[in-house]
Amino acid sequence: VSDRELANGRLSIDDAVGLAGGETWGANSKQWCPFGHINHIDGGVGKAFRVYPDSNTAYCFAGCGWFDPTHMVAVAKDMTDRDAALWILEYTGYREPTVESRWEAATAVHTVVDTAALAEALKVFCTRLDPMWDVHRFDEPFASTFRKCLALLDRVTTEDEAAKWLAVTKDGMRSLLSR
Ligand SMILES: [Zn+2]
Repeated sequence: VSDRELANGRLSIDDAVGLAGGETWGANSKQWCPFGHINHIDGGVGKAFRVYPDSNTAYCFAGCGWFDPTHMVAVAKDMTDRDAALWILEYTGYREPTVESRWEAATAVHTVVDTAALAEALKVFCTRLDPMWDVHRFDEPFASTFRKCLALLDRVTTEDEAAKWLAVTKDGMRSLLSR
């Protein structure tokens, strides 16, 4: 990854325009170019500037051309693009990854499953079956069964297991609550 790509990943085009003294109004309107008063023939009166948040870029139709956050900062601060990229990295507190942090990232267990959301889904399910669930959940046998369901979440690490967990626990709570 180049410094420029890193820098562009750490600064939004909106923030870059802000750093250039301009303002952005979203993707759907033409607006003033932050450099219009200096660079445009009309002195910047015309709204000749558009931002494209999806690609994190902007374009000035009055001659400034295309910007990514790096080039925006470069023009604003009268720097080369390369220096602007480095400026952005420093401005955003970028630290080059160390061997240790790379290793940690490479070996970290990435939990793709939102277990809190699963627990919430089961709670919602129980509430739907039993409008008094908020009270009953403290009574036996509901309380201990529900607790066991939540304890099983510790073993859920994949989407597939999440789906199975939800199916099994819903089934269990349903048969208990419909008694
Ligand atoms: Zn311009």
